[in-house]
Amino acid sequence: MSAYRTVRQKLADQRSEEIREEGLAKLKAIREAIPCPACADAEGNPMSGHFIAKCKECSARAVAGGPTFFEVAKAKAVTPEYARLMKSIFGEEWKAHHERVKAWAQRMAEARQVA
Ligand SMILES: [Zn+2]
Repeated sequence: MSAYRTVRQKLADQRSEEIREEGLAKLKAIREAIPCPACADAEGNPMSGHFIAKCKECSARAVAGGPTFFEVAKAKAVTPEYARLMKSIFGEEWKAHHERVKAWAQRMAEARQVA
C-alpha cells in the first residue's frame, strides 16, 4: 500500500512539476511578446536614450551608441575590448547580436544626418 502511494505521489509530483514548467514557459513567451517600451521609443527616435537593462535589443542599441563600438566602426574591425563587452552582455552568442549593434549604429548615423 505504501509503495503504491509513493509511486502515485511521485507521479503527482512529476506532473505538478511539468505543469509548473509549462506555466513558466508560457509566462516567458508572453513577456517576450510584449514590446519593450524603450525599444518602442527608439523605433521612432533611435537617439531616444531610453534603455531597459534586461532587454537585448536595448543592450544592442546602447552598445551601438557607446565608445567601444565607436572604436570598432573606426577600425572597421572587432576590437578585443568590444568582444569582451559583447560577451559580457550577450554571452557566447554575441556575434549574432553584433548584427543588431551594427544595424542600430546605422540608424543612429542616419538620425544624426536628418537632425
Ligand atoms: Zn528594449
